[in-house]
Amino acid sequence: MGRSRTAIVVGGGIGGLAAGIGLHERGWQVRVLERAAEFTEVGAGISVWSNALRALDLIGGGLADEVRAHGDIELQGGIEARNGRWLSRVDADEVVRRFGPVIMMHRAELLQILLDRNPPSSLVPDVEVTHVEADGTVAHDDGEDRADLVVGADGLNSTVRQSCGMKPSLRGTPGTRRGAG
Ligand SMILES: Cc1cc2nc3c(=O)[nH]c(=O)nc-3n(C[C@H](O)[C@H](O)[C@H](O)COP(=O)(O)OP(=O)(O)OC[C@H]3O[C@@H](n4cnc5c(N)ncnc54)[C@H](O)[C@@H]3O)c2cc1C
Repeated sequence: MGRSRTAIVVGGGIGGLAAGIGLHERGWQVRVLERAAEFTEVGAGISVWSNALRALDLIGGGLADEVRAHGDIELQGGIEARNGRWLSRVDADEVVRRFGPVIMMHRAELLQILLDRNPPSSLVPDVEVTHVEADGTVAHDDGEDRADLVVGADGLNSTVRQSCGMKPSLRGTPGTRRGAG
């Protein structure tokens, strides 16, 4: 039998932990490197949109159903400017008709579901990645590792992205999202 393929996921947020589960489910040996001392999320709500639920369905293992069971169906929502003016309103019935349900849940709860599905031994907190190379070398503040695959899930100002020669692209207007279940 050949050795299992190895992956290093840089960043243990929602994206990195979901990638970790998907790779683990498919037989990869995964390590998720997170610079924070703990894997945590801020105490706010999140809308899990229909396409995100479909992505979780694809990861498999009943993950999407577990997320659905913890959320409330979102009934209305939109984006407000700072002065309270609505920039866009979501017609929830139309969204559901076209794409399927959207659910709202607590971020910490979503993160816990994802954490519980990653093997504990694969979760490595307190390691900050400083640079990655195209050959799978990952330099971090605890030394250096190498993997067959490196996944950049390190959020805004991504170190992985910059290591690949891509500049951060930050655009946008401050606003507030509101949703109600
Ligand atoms: C106010 C607000 C509301 C939002 N609401 C929604 C919503 O309702 N629905 C929705 O789908 N999206 C929403 N979003 C967007 C959503 O929150 C983000 O897209 C999502 O959290 C990104 O997850 P991520 O795992 O890719 O990145 P992040 O959550 O940024 O996680 C990146 C992780 O990588 C770690 N990290 C960074 N650099 C390194 C490094 N060099 N080495 C090791 N670890 C590193 C960080 O510590 C962090 O834990 C919202 C965003 C904001 C700001």
